[in-house]
Amino acid sequence: MRKIEHIGIAVKDLGASNALFEKLFGQPPYKMEEVASEGVKTSFFMAGPNKIELLEATRQDSPIAKYIEKKGEGIHHIAFDVEDIRAEIERLREEGFIVLNDTPKKGADNKLVAFLHPKTTNGVLIELCQDAPQE
Ligand code: ZN
Repeated sequence: MRKIEHIGIAVKDLGASNALFEKLFGQPPYKMEEVASEGVKTSFFMAGPNKIELLEATRQDSPIAKYIEKKGEGIHHIAFDVEDIRAEIERLREEGFIVLNDTPKKGADNKLVAFLHPKTTNGVLIELCQDAPQE
């Protein structure tokens, strides 16, 4: 793993949170994107070299809806940049981590992503994230 790629924050109202984080960072999100397969709307902010992702559920069975129901708004996941996501999935499985995705899936911001179950990572949902090859 090379670095933290971004930190994901679960929010109830993306419009209101965009306004809040725009005030915090002094600039608007550089990107907004819906990932229909995950049932989320996202926005991305830069804070210097660091990226923050806000996530709002678009349906009741979305992982974000379930998370907010259980834990409320807040830090949802930490994403790490990896060079070869398939190799990392293999390596981490062999180390005993529960990887939630057999094969990487398409995430927001042109990434291939996979998640590690928080019960094997001290309660922290970890996202592996590789730049998707340009199509
Ligand atoms: Zn993320």
